[in-house]
Amino acid sequence: MKAALLYGIKDLRIEETVKPEICAGEVLVKVRAATTCGTDLKIYQRGYVSGVIKLPTVFGHEWGGDIVEVGEGVTWLKEGMRVRAGNSSPCLRCYMCQRGDYNLCLDMMWLWGAYAEYIRVPARIVMLNTQEIPAHLSYEEAAITEPLACVLHGVEEARVKLGDTVAIIGAGPIGLLHLLTVKKMGAGKIIISDTIDERLKLAEKLGADETINAKNQDTIAETRQFTDGYGADVVIEAIGLPATWEQALRMVRKGGTVLEFGGCPPGTEIKVSTEQLHYGETTILGAFHTTPLHFRKALNLIASGTINVKPLITREMKLNEIKDAFDILSTSKSDIKIGIIP
Ligand SMILES: [Zn+2]
Ligand SMILES: [Zn+2]
Repeated sequence: MKAALLYGIKDLRIEETVKPEICAGEVLVKVRAATTCGTDLKIYQRGYVSGVIKLPTVFGHEWGGDIVEVGEGVTWLKEGMRVRAGNSSPCLRCYMCQRGDYNLCLDMMWLWGAYAEYIRVPARIVMLNTQEIPAHLSYEEAAITEPLACVLHGVEEARVKLGDTVAIIGAGPIGLLHLLTVKKMGAGKIIISDTIDERLKLAEKLGADETINAKNQDTIAETRQFTDGYGADVVIEAIGLPATWEQALRMVRKGGTVLEFGGCPPGTEIKVSTEQLHYGETTILGAFHTTPLHFRKALNLIASGTINVKPLITREMKLNEIKDAFDILSTSKSDIKIGIIP
């Protein structure tokens, strides 16, 4: 079968690989669509996880497809079913799992390899994190369950309340998913910043009340101005740079919450003022990945039309063109997520 293999920074190749064989408890899925993700782009551009993953590696983790083979003992999944599966499954055994903090599982099983013709879903993921795709949803919409699940986990931690002013740093796929989500949670005013006008225009279409182009505007000053000088109730960093993590701290009101959502390069640090924590009572939260429950909720929110993810899929390309797809995402102003069709 054809699969995309990452050999190093910006070195992504389509190769002929062995079609996976499945064991008991597993299913084999023919991938119908995979969507590109900011994490994939980061790895492609900067190789953040080198040292963690062994190269060459299969790539891609947001997908939907058709079951073509069902392993022994799998009862509820049938051949021909349209399904999506999460890219992780907790162990249920470690202390973090038993506390219910499944996203922090110490023995998480991960699943990569969505940019391929077939994907083997391991038993633990079949059991805990696989769902049938409702008939009216496209494979691409279903694929976006993964990033939306991460966003749901984050905003739940941040406890966005009805009427809150929420400032989001970054109008890429993750920033826009936060925008769609906090809108539904009843945010009273949503401020979003980015350096690309085209993205800010899309953010406006999707419900942003105020936009800030950080290239020629002072994001902190503008946010203060849009909030009568107080700062936002909740600030969400959706880029993943120490500079914007620190910027977020200066955009929040006294007693407000900062959700540092974007993962920064390893080894980086930020400075936090002790006075802000003490006198300002700022709550600073990190958010990592998500849980099977949030995957389930995310698919349901997409299926019910509560969160319309269609505007985020700005282009479709063939698996053969995957390198071009990532080069487009590296430079394009208007592309958000690209559907990769094997
Ligand atoms: Zn993703
Ligand atoms: Zn665990």
